[in-house]
Amino acid sequence: MSDHLHKNCQDLLGSLSEYIDGELPPDLCREIEKHLEGCDNCRIVLNTTKRTIDLVQIPVEEETVPADVRERLFKRLNLDDYLNPQE
Ligand SMILES: [Zn+2]
Repeated sequence: MSDHLHKNCQDLLGSLSEYIDGELPPDLCREIEKHLEGCDNCRIVLNTTKRTIDLVQIPVEEETVPADVRERLFKRLNLDDYLNPQE
């Protein structure tokens, strides 16, 4: 296992939710950011995901997105981790 290899897209997208949550070690974040610099595709996915999360993370008292819709959004983005954090 060489650690100077770029993470491929699948690896990156697999840890995207943790990256957005800031749960990844700095080393890994740097690797991801390096990959994002050269990969339009992953950058678009990251931006879309971030935006969607912003959209659904409305304070409870102002919540206008039904849980149902939110669930479908997450499913479409393949972010099941958010729905089942213990897995
Ligand atoms: Zn990529």
